[in-house]
Amino acid sequence: MMHEDIRAAVARLCEAFPGSYWRELDRERAYPAAFVEALTRSGFLAALIPQAYGGAGLPLGAAAAILEEIQAAGCNGASCHAQMYVMGTLLRHGSEHQKQRYLPAIAQGAVRLQAFGVTEPDSGSDTAAITTTARREGDRYIIRGRKIWTSRAEHSDLMLLLARTSPAAEGMKRTAGLSVFIVDLHEAKQHGLTIDPIRTMMNHATTSIGFDDVPVPAENLVGAEGEGFRYILSGMNAERILIAAECIGDARWFIAKSTVYARERVVFGRPIGQNQGIQFPIARAYANMRAARLMVDEALRRFEAEEPCGPEANMAKMLAADASAEAGNVAIQTHGGFGFAEDFDIERKFRETRLYQVAPVSTNLILSHLAEHVLGLPRSY
Ligand SMILES: Cc1cc2nc3c(=O)[nH]c(=O)nc-3n(C[C@H](O)[C@H](O)[C@H](O)COP(=O)(O)OP(=O)(O)OC[C@H]3O[C@@H](n4cnc5c(N)ncnc54)[C@H](O)[C@@H]3O)c2cc1C
Repeated sequence: MMHEDIRAAVARLCEAFPGSYWRELDRERAYPAAFVEALTRSGFLAALIPQAYGGAGLPLGAAAAILEEIQAAGCNGASCHAQMYVMGTLLRHGSEHQKQRYLPAIAQGAVRLQAFGVTEPDSGSDTAAITTTARREGDRYIIRGRKIWTSRAEHSDLMLLLARTSPAAEGMKRTAGLSVFIVDLHEAKQHGLTIDPIRTMMNHATTSIGFDDVPVPAENLVGAEGEGFRYILSGMNAERILIAAECIGDARWFIAKSTVYARERVVFGRPIGQNQGIQFPIARAYANMRAARLMVDEALRRFEAEEPCGPEANMAKMLAADASAEAGNVAIQTHGGFGFAEDFDIERKFRETRLYQVAPVSTNLILSHLAEHVLGLPRSY
């Protein structure tokens, strides 16, 4: 994964969005509209949309490079990263009519598809346990239920929704009977959809969404009814790899900040970075970041070669999230009291990167996936 030209262009774009920009938004929990607008205009968010639909048609490695550089510049791609990969489900499983209708508009930046409604309050990590239903009624489906943590829904025109179209029948897989829909959020808001923002420890426009018998045209069903879980799964490897790349970017930012500060800060008449107690944790964080990056590269290589990459995508996400969390912790320690001062941005980035221990899949679920599917150990749940 190189893409040096793209990396340099992203870094240049990010220069217009310094720490002060993000701090102000963070205080207000406001959406980085100007940043997302700039990324959209640059075409970076359409990197993965094929040229036939107006996008750049680049491989996943290019998207990973874009997101890594955004984070390494101290910005936060979580405000829009889903715009890159949510459309993958539509691209792979949607009808030609759906693709023609939505993808060129997304590529042009006229329409945003960056909300992804899977998680529910009572299902948690157990996606098969979702209870939001889509009931067929003539030429439409009627959606009823509740989603939680549907990020960016207030800043998206469309949402990809997972709902149950039939109960999981006896003897069938629990994941059978789930279907994917494209929901026009503007339409739906007129007919029973409510969006409630959730304030979190970081500035992450996330929400809870209620569906009170919301009608969705039957033509908005993606692929075949009942096959939705498979469609969602097919997009998860891309999501995990891209989020891993973001964590690598975060780790690079923390390490860069720490090394600069450790060289400059003089206590007891010498730079704190001269003390092994300060330099070793930074060096270790660097080594762990580089090791995690190798796994990200390996997951990308397999993904781009269309080889199975589930374990690598999961390991990349876990190792990179661990590397960024470690580097964040080291950055706070290196900065002493200033690590806690808003003006240094360390505490903000620390809060932001902490999310990736939990979302989009928590570390424990990755470990149990590896234990069961790679190591052949008994399923633990
Ligand atoms: C800011 C934010 C944004 C998000 N954005 C989205 C989004 O846009 N769309 C969306 O659909 N979802 C989104 N999510 C949801 C996210 O994917 C879930 O939070 C995550 O999958 C974990 O689910 P949960 O919160 O229900 O935790 P739970 O499933 O309740 O788990 C709680 C804890 O228990 C552990 N645990 C659970 N079961 C086991 C087990 N069998 N073995 C060992 N440990 C276990 C978990 O690892 C976790 O640490 C977001 C979440 C957050 C916080």
